[in-house]
Amino acid sequence: MKEVYPGIFVIEEKGRFSPSDNIYVLAGNDGLIYDAGYGSKKALRYFFKEFKEIQKYYEKQNKKFKITRIISSHGHSDHFSGLTSVSETLGLKIILTEKIAKTIKDKVSFEANFRSDDYEDFLRVRTPLRKIWNLLRRLGMRLFFRGVHGLSYLDHPDEIIDENSVIIINGEQWKIFPSPGHSPEHISLYSEENGILFSGDNVLKMRSTWLGPPESNITDYIETIKKLQNLPKLKLILPAHGEIIDNPKETLSAIMERMNERKRQVLDAIKNHSDRGLSPDDILNLIYPNHKKFTRIIGRDWVVLTLKMLEDNNLIKREIRKNKILFFPIAIN
Ligand SMILES: [Zn+2]
Repeated sequence: MKEVYPGIFVIEEKGRFSPSDNIYVLAGNDGLIYDAGYGSKKALRYFFKEFKEIQKYYEKQNKKFKITRIISSHGHSDHFSGLTSVSETLGLKIILTEKIAKTIKDKVSFEANFRSDDYEDFLRVRTPLRKIWNLLRRLGMRLFFRGVHGLSYLDHPDEIIDENSVIIINGEQWKIFPSPGHSPEHISLYSEENGILFSGDNVLKMRSTWLGPPESNITDYIETIKKLQNLPKLKLILPAHGEIIDNPKETLSAIMERMNERKRQVLDAIKNHSDRGLSPDDILNLIYPNHKKFTRIIGRDWVVLTLKMLEDNNLIKREIRKNKILFFPIAIN
């Protein structure tokens, strides 16, 4: 554990083959835990050990240490699976927004996020072979979430809060607000008094956050980043993975630049091949010609989302030719 700001501690909870999750403890007499992390036994054991360390360290300074609540940033299984165990062991109230509560309620609601449509097929024509592949992919994801994240659903939280609300933590006002983009139900937590933002998975320091179908949406994501840029007195961003961000302005502008650059790359590629059209894979080959497989998988997710956004903005249109989805520019008169 580490004290990243007076009274705010981070526990870096390690997952199996996954990046570590940052779980923040806002210590005080009416404290809160932001984000619930993994649900696997090993991860939870580590969490409770670190939590005790925080308590000891805090009480040594003759300060009252009472954590009363836990909240989740969004409905991904590496961010809510610890809810039940942590709340039962530490006697905390689980507070969630309606949307997050609905997403993590049970298998049916959770998997509805990954349901099949041509968007989820990553803009590939749904041939019989593709249908089998989709089935295997869903099975693989199920195993991954269970085995790696320790997936654990929650059928009802103790309290539902509005996704635009103010909560009092240790006597201070913290604002909760929706921040869709990475996923539709994502929320952030902000204190204007301290200039501190808990950004969940939307803003990370070292790399771009994952944006992919079917849950992510680039238009929403850009709106969220703009919203964060307009937060008054923002000094520090505490993300759900990786290092803390002490230069929020530069980090947020770099994200905006990257989004614009990517949009331009895809649109230019389509305009330059307007005669024959381009499939998502053609675009991927143009933008990431020699990259590693993993980069290409992540890159393809983002290309698909960008195509969807350009299509929604009436800048491109699709045609199906020989079992391939091809994109063409729409001429602006
Ligand atoms: Zn996530």
